Amino acid sequence: HGFGSWATIHHLRNADRVAYVDGLAGVQTTYAQLEERTNRLADALRAKGVSHGERVALLCLNSPQMMEIYLAVAKLGAISVPVNFRLHPDEIAHVLSDSGASLLFVSTPFVDAATQALASGTSVRETIRVPALAEREAGEGGDYEPLVSSGASERVVADVGHDDVCVIMYTSGTTGRPKGAMLTHGNFFYNAINAMGFASGIGRTDVTISAAPLFHIGALGVHTLPFLFVGAGVVVIEAFTPDQWVEAAARHHVTQAFLVPAMWAAVAASPALETADLSSLRLAISGGAPCPLPVISAMKSHGVAFTEGFGMTETSPNAACLQPEDVVEHAGSVGRPVAFMDFRILDEMDQDVPVGHVGELCLRGPSVFVGYWDKPEATAEAIRDGWFHTGDMARVDEEGFYSLVDRKKDMIITGGENVYPIEVEQVLYGHPDVVEVAVIGVLDETWGETVAAVVVRAADSSLTADGLREWARERISHFKAPRRVAFVDELPRNATGKILKRELRITEGGGHT
Ligand code: ATP
Ligand code: MG
Repeated sequence: HGFGSWATIHHLRNADRVAYVDGLAGVQTTYAQLEERTNRLADALRAKGVSHGERVALLCLNSPQMMEIYLAVAKLGAISVPVNFRLHPDEIAHVLSDSGASLLFVSTPFVDAATQALASGTSVRETIRVPALAEREAGEGGDYEPLVSSGASERVVADVGHDDVCVIMYTSGTTGRPKGAMLTHGNFFYNAINAMGFASGIGRTDVTISAAPLFHIGALGVHTLPFLFVGAGVVVIEAFTPDQWVEAAARHHVTQAFLVPAMWAAVAASPALETADLSSLRLAISGGAPCPLPVISAMKSHGVAFTEGFGMTETSPNAACLQPEDVVEHAGSVGRPVAFMDFRILDEMDQDVPVGHVGELCLRGPSVFVGYWDKPEATAEAIRDGWFHTGDMARVDEEGFYSLVDRKKDMIITGGENVYPIEVEQVLYGHPDVVEVAVIGVLDETWGETVAAVVVRAADSSLTADGLREWARERISHFKAPRRVAFVDELPRNATGKILKRELRITEGGGHT
């Protein structure tokens, strides 16, 4: 059954080492203090009746407190449910109801949103206010510090094993409504082992920055939890700005860092990067979406080893990664699988496709989730024969490098031909007047679906639909070139910066979803 919660193992040999640095000001918490505080918090939660399997929601800004809540809840065998704070109060209410959370930790700036969400009636019986950074600096503890103080400091020993769920993490909601992926103690344990073997490895003298939102798997699972697992240091940034990120990286001698591509693009463009000393930064990782080559080149020109990883909420998330030396030579690939992860590419009949052919990427391993919370049908559809069907279409080359082609749900079938929108988008991006583009399928009586492009033009551009169609037809097969072109001011995106094609399909008159 298991080894107990992995949340209890880190303090043993790292007592005097720094676990967290709270923002730029740098209030530090050692592993011994972290162990004591999370024991106290776990005990206080137990006194409130929080028991094994119970859900505790977090509507929190990145903070040491948020990490402590994750760990304390895990110690009890209870389940953390991080909530995306950019959601509308109605959507927050949906996550609270869907997960059946009984307690809600909420950072001060989100108290109003939480009050609105709770007004619709949820299972939450108590809200605990967590102080924001400015309040912590002023010595204010909200409801949180009194709660921690009320618990006993003895080590909490609960009956927790690798198969127990410790986090329900909602997916980004790019292809549909977010689904709650159930991640276990064992999933995070193996994810940490996989992370240690990633690119340059992770050791106890490493320091990272946790700046991407901790309610998403990237920030939590690429670096933060694996770093705590080995006794390394985590600089926690409340709200990402590129200048502050650069300053924090330099001041705290950060050695490894993860951000999503849009954040790396902002860092690469930051004037602070010109003068900062980032010589300690030996590895920068991007993941969650494709990272544009110019961003990679800009970071490399500042002497930073840069690489790209691939993963998803359902895989805790580390699944594949490139070595920094391969990033340019294998541009467009997401690399090779991590140690404890099997990859297969399957066709519609669940048969392996030959090398070089496109099919659905399917994964298996001890860090793959155990199912979607309260969604047995979605779980049965996703996990078949022990293989998680990711919904990503991919191919592998002779050397074992995997490349993502597109989302299965985004694939367009026109006149019996498969069209992958990303291929068409890459061609359209080649036009100098195209600032942003999304290619989608729209219903068509003759062709089943037809290819449509939704385009943001440069401000002074006189590009026409005919002009762009012509451009495309000169460069790709005619059936792939968009038959319809619509110009818009901006494209809808989710919190991670991914374009929401399902919203475009609604406005563009349908298509398969
Ligand atoms: P939903 O499942 O709700 O539709 P989502 O799949 O975007 O949302 P996440 O789990 O946050 O939610 O993202 C995982 C997906 O992100 C992967 O399935 C893949 O499509 C994409 N992705 C992750 N890393 C990369 C990468 N390095 N390059 C390209 N795409 C990536
Ligand atoms: Mg997904």
